[in-house]
Amino acid sequence: MQAQRLVPTRVRRFYRGGALLGRFRGQPEEDGYLPEDWVGSTTLARNQGNDDEGLSRLADGALLRDAIAEDPVAWLGEAHVARFGPETGLLVKLLDSAERLPVHAHPDRAFAQAELHSAFGKTEAWIVLNTREEEATVWVGLREPVERAEYLERIERQAVDCLLGSLNPLSVRAGDVVHVPGGVPHAIGAGVLLVELQEPTDLSLLCEWQGFPIRPEDTHLGLGWDRAVGALELGAHAPIRELPPEAREFFWADREQDAAGRFAILVVLAGDGAIGGEPARAGDAFAVPAAADGLDLEGDLELLRCLGPDPGP
Ligand SMILES: [Zn+2]
Repeated sequence: MQAQRLVPTRVRRFYRGGALLGRFRGQPEEDGYLPEDWVGSTTLARNQGNDDEGLSRLADGALLRDAIAEDPVAWLGEAHVARFGPETGLLVKLLDSAERLPVHAHPDRAFAQAELHSAFGKTEAWIVLNTREEEATVWVGLREPVERAEYLERIERQAVDCLLGSLNPLSVRAGDVVHVPGGVPHAIGAGVLLVELQEPTDLSLLCEWQGFPIRPEDTHLGLGWDRAVGALELGAHAPIRELPPEAREFFWADREQDAAGRFAILVVLAGDGAIGGEPARAGDAFAVPAAADGLDLEGDLELLRCLGPDPGP
């Protein structure tokens, strides 16, 4: 088996972006409501009206999810399947924001399992590829602890200045990494192109919705805010500007130009060449099965190798 090309999988969202996705691939593109490309996904987007939105496809049109289901051990490796079943455990996206995203958080694994019947939460990490200005701003984690009742009140009042103003602002530029554990409130600012590594869900708690095309009843995953607020990390959280060792429980990314002996999503960051005999250039993505002996690389490619949760020995 060898690496297989994945075709772009654009996903509708409630915020605008996309121009930098086009620029990354050397194609003209204007901003619109398709600001994300789920380049390595077996995860369904929680959007209404399309039953396979979010699922990546191989070049022959098959869903990556279905190809893996047919031969999980070859795709994921024995240790992974023994620990996680026939799921990749990984979602890799490209995201380009033309505007600031609302303050939101994602459940961690424990909350998702207890309250949402989901094996995975959505711890995530951002790897910054480009910014529209020299730097962009992201906001991660509360600077100071907030009482649950007080935070609920800020959500109900849509006290946006307060919701955003209570978070740590961070300036980011190409090459920066930010790790965002489940539960930690955050917002991505305008003008940043990221690779996002995530647990494989589309579970978001939208603390802020005013001014976005979002209905208040769609902000709390059907839990009501009294329960949903229990998913939020309301203690102080210092931003983590790297992938810490504990991130391996969820995902990892490195610049190794080789097969990993486990499932990987490759994102081509720059260069021109081929992977497994298929032409490859910036913005292309490939799925690498655990059973691949190598990547069969040609040319001067710069790769980001994204891995799922560490299956252990
Ligand atoms: Zn997020």
